[in-house]
Amino acid sequence: MEPQTVKPEPEIVHKKPQVDESTLTHKELLRGPFWHRIPAYRNVTEEQFLDHTWQARHSITKAAKLLEALQGIVSAEFIEDATAGFRAAPMSVRVSPYLLSLIDWSRPYEDPLRTQFIPLASRLLPDHPKLGLDSLAEQADAPVPGLTHRYPDKALFLPLDTCPVYCRFCTRSYAVGIDTDQVDKVPLQVDRDRWRLAFRYIASRPELEDIVVSGGDAYNLRATQVREIGDTLLDIPNVRRMRFATKGPAVMPQKILSDRDWLDALTHVVERGRKMHKEVVLHTHFNHPSEITGITQDAMNVLFERGVLVRNQSVLQRGVNDAADTMRLLIKRMGHVNVHAYYVYIHDLVRGVEDLRTTLGAGLEVEKAIRGSTAGFNTPVFVCDAPGGGGKRDAHSYEHYDRVTGISVYTAPSVKHGRHFCYFDPIDLLPPEGSARWQDPGEHQPMIDAAIAAARHQAR
Ligand SMILES: *Cc1c(COP(=O)(O)O)cnc(C)c1O
Ligand code: SF4
Repeated sequence: MEPQTVKPEPEIVHKKPQVDESTLTHKELLRGPFWHRIPAYRNVTEEQFLDHTWQARHSITKAAKLLEALQGIVSAEFIEDATAGFRAAPMSVRVSPYLLSLIDWSRPYEDPLRTQFIPLASRLLPDHPKLGLDSLAEQADAPVPGLTHRYPDKALFLPLDTCPVYCRFCTRSYAVGIDTDQVDKVPLQVDRDRWRLAFRYIASRPELEDIVVSGGDAYNLRATQVREIGDTLLDIPNVRRMRFATKGPAVMPQKILSDRDWLDALTHVVERGRKMHKEVVLHTHFNHPSEITGITQDAMNVLFERGVLVRNQSVLQRGVNDAADTMRLLIKRMGHVNVHAYYVYIHDLVRGVEDLRTTLGAGLEVEKAIRGSTAGFNTPVFVCDAPGGGGKRDAHSYEHYDRVTGISVYTAPSVKHGRHFCYFDPIDLLPPEGSARWQDPGEHQPMIDAAIAAARHQAR
C-alpha cells in the first residue's frame, strides 16, 4: 500500500484577538430550583413552579403578602419603604413568584427587577410638571374606546385592561389595572360590544393593514378570545399583519409551557394567517438580561418550533438597562433565545416613576455603544414616543435638543403634519442651571417656546 500523504491544514491566522469563551455570558441562563432562595417557595416543586396557574394564584398584589413571602431575607426598613411605596403608586402592583425569585434580595435597593416592579417611597421623585396621565394622547386618537388609530396604516387595539403582572412604569396606567388610591381608570374591560365596534371600524378603513392587539396584555385573554380576535381580524380583507403584545414571556414564561389551550390558540392564528399570507407575530417586553432564564429558553424554543416569531420592545430605564453593557447583554441574550430586539423606548412621561426615566442624551449614548455589536435585525431602534400623540420617532431625529432644559423637539410629518412635539428629560438629571429654571413655573412656557423656535429655525 502507498503511504497516505496527509496534506496539513493551513494554520488559521487570527486578525482579531481571541475571545475567552467564559466571557460570553449571554449564553449562561439560570436553571435549577432558583426559587428555593425565597423562604416562602422553599418547598415548591419544579412541577408547581412551572405551572402557570400556580404562578397566577401566588402572584403578589399587596405589601403585606410581599412581607410574608420575604420574611427573614429583607430588612424591616425595606418592607416599610415598600409599604409606603405601594400606597403612593398610581399603578396597581402585581408580581409573579417567578419575578420575585429572580430578584437579588441581598441587594433589593439596586436590583433591576425590584426597581421595575416594587415601588419604594424613598426613591420617589416629583413628577415632571409637563407630565399628563395619558401622555401619548391615545384617547384623543381613539375613534372607538380602546382602539387608537394614529398612524396611517396601523392601529392599536386594547381588548382588555388586565395583565399577568403590573409594571410600575406602565404607559397605560390611565386604563390598565384596577383603580388605585391615586387613579380612577378608564374602563377597558373585555366587552363584546366594544370589540365589535372596533372590528367594524377596522373593516371600514381600507388603509388599515396592521393591528396591534395589546391591552392590558394578550396573555390574559382566554384561548377562545385569542382565536376570536385573531380569526375576526384575519377575515377582514384589509388586515395584512397582526401582533399580539404581551409581557408574558418576560414575567411568566411558564404559561407557554403549561397552558396548552392558549398556546394552541395562538398557533392556530399564526398558522391560519400564514396560509392566508398574513403575518401574525408575538411582541414582548424584556428589559433586563436577568429576566431571561432556562425556563424562558424552553418557552421560546416551543414558540420557535411552532413558527411563532417573537420581537421585543424594551423601555430604557435608569438603574435597569441604561448601562451599555447591560443593554448589550440583553440583546445578545434575546438573540440567543430567538427573540428579535425591535425597539428601545425612551421612557414615556408616566406618573410616579421619575426615578426610572433617564435623559434622551443617555439613550443616544447607549444606542451608539451597542450598534454594531450583533446582527442588525437583533439591534433595536431607539425611539421616543412623542408626548401629545406624535407617535414613535427615531430618538436621533429631533429637530432640536437643549441639554440644559432637557427639552427635545420632534416633528412627525406622516402622523401630524406641521406640529411640534416636545419630550422632557427628568429634572433631577439636568445641569443645575436647567433644574433651577424648572423650579420657576413662569419659566416653563418660555423654555418650551424657545425650544420650538429653535426647532423651526433648524428646519429652515
Ligand atoms: C406603537 C404603536 C403602533 C405600532 O407601531 P410600530 O412602529 O409599527 O411598532 C400602532 N399604533 C399605536 C397607537 C402605537 O402606539
Ligand atoms: S404588562 Fe404592559 S400593559 Fe401591563 S402593566 Fe406592564 S407595561 Fe403596562
